Amino acid sequence: MKFELMHPSEQISMIMERIYGYGMTTTSGGNLSILDNEKNIWITPAGVDKGSLTHKDIVCVKHDGTVTGNNKPSSELPFHKQIYEKRPDIKAILHAHPPALVAFSITRKIPDINLIPNVQLICGDIGIAEDAPPGSSELGEKITAVFKRGINTAILENHGIVVGASDLFKAFMAFETLDFCARLEINANIIGKSVSLSQKDIEVSKNKQHSDIGEYTPKRYSSFEKAARKEMCRLIHRAYNQKLFTSTQGTFSQRLDEGSFILTPYGIDRKYLDAEDIVKIKNGLKEKGKIPSRSLLLHKYIYQKHSHINSIIISHPPNIMAFAVTNKEFDSKTIPESYILLRDVPKLPFGSSFMNPESAAGIYKKGVPIAIVKNDCVIVTGNSLLKAFDTLEVAEFTAKSIIASKSIGKIINIGEKEITDIKKAFKI
Ligand SMILES: [Zn+2]
Repeated sequence: MKFELMHPSEQISMIMERIYGYGMTTTSGGNLSILDNEKNIWITPAGVDKGSLTHKDIVCVKHDGTVTGNNKPSSELPFHKQIYEKRPDIKAILHAHPPALVAFSITRKIPDINLIPNVQLICGDIGIAEDAPPGSSELGEKITAVFKRGINTAILENHGIVVGASDLFKAFMAFETLDFCARLEINANIIGKSVSLSQKDIEVSKNKQHSDIGEYTPKRYSSFEKAARKEMCRLIHRAYNQKLFTSTQGTFSQRLDEGSFILTPYGIDRKYLDAEDIVKIKNGLKEKGKIPSRSLLLHKYIYQKHSHINSIIISHPPNIMAFAVTNKEFDSKTIPESYILLRDVPKLPFGSSFMNPESAAGIYKKGVPIAIVKNDCVIVTGNSLLKAFDTLEVAEFTAKSIIASKSIGKIINIGEKEITDIKKAFKI
């Protein structure tokens, strides 16, 4: 999809649909704008339902101040204008009040962007803008005071968040990633104390290399491969909609035969991923012109070592990841479904999946379908994509229920005898 060829009003309605659908704004809250090459500001309207916004609702504010469109521009237009004036490199602005980031806004804190790698890279530094009345030019001054320091994201005291970027899709990625971070930190601190990555670990991860492998040109696709590509896209979109993935993170792979598998590409928005974006790896070569996920080697070694595994998912869901960024052990002996699918879940050291993929791949012997990698991800395996997806969902649900239980009482896990009975009954 060529975003740069889309009309600003279409881009705005598309991103607003994602924000609303993802539970990151209310019907009346939040506003988006784009500054086009003719210096017109395209902005969401005041008082129109954000849940059913279309491109026809978007308002254009010309450079001379005249307004065209069917509605009045958002009441927050002043701060959008002020940011564009002070930061000519910014061409799109996103403002919203998602609950997790508002939790930081009302406690006047900044989310920890160093809990997992890549967030620093996507979001950059975060600032705090002092409180001022909504719609006032005073609020614009407080926000631009942060943006003038070269910062593109500001938490507004007792209000919400503002993100600026060179285009609206980049602004959305930073916003979504920071919201994910906020949810992760909140979850982690309910069960324990979150531990940040060191700057050294972040650098190591930043320098993570793409596998240097040769290319081949595919001549034909089997019906099995076509079906597998379709199924993979279907489940990736589902994982995205269920917040198990963000737009930039989350990897699926599926074994096709002994020497080949298909894998998600690097750097393509998960929301719009298509069957043709998926990368095939055949006899150690990649499909011509495509960039596979940087976790390619880990997938390769898992398939080489374990004939019972046909599918792998790497993900960062905000509940199970709470156990990855704290020293708390994840115990699946909560309900039978959780133990049957997840078993005893090992926790691997940070970096093991990309610094030592061959040995990390070794742990997935029968009875170990899932592992947590400290401050990084969860890696789930299965004999089919749907099975691996189910295991990922069960892990996230289990983590969510453990976190929710903290406000109710102490967990009583399933006892040893019951576990022995479950193992016998389900032959696991
Ligand atoms: Zn607001």
